Amino acid sequence: MEIESRLDRIERIVSEAPTQILDITRFHDKTLEFLKDSSLLKSESPICNNCTNQMSLMHNKNKADRFQYRCRSCNIAKTIRYNSIFEGSRLTLIEFTRLMLYYFIEGYSIQETHEETANNY
Ligand SMILES: [Zn+2]
Repeated sequence: MEIESRLDRIERIVSEAPTQILDITRFHDKTLEFLKDSSLLKSESPICNNCTNQMSLMHNKNKADRFQYRCRSCNIAKTIRYNSIFEGSRLTLIEFTRLMLYYFIEGYSIQETHEETANNY
């Protein structure tokens, strides 16, 4: 899915229910679920690069986002941010999502919001 249509989609969700997004982003698991539903994160688990088995979503309290994908055969881990707009950001998913919400509420355009959140954080 193109970045523009992903952001269109999240803008619609956010504008329909801003207080709901604030509630959702109090929790790591709900934020993850929301970002998957919004197609900002991949909803399917990745394939292990080593053995090609499907990886599993695992809880990991040492990770800022509290989750990661792990191959049960090789024990290789992969970030839940793979191939997403969140790759490379220093913000947690919760911080990033709240920042996007803030920009939408402040009336920034989709393009401005993407540029601000992707390039500066
Ligand atoms: Zn593997």
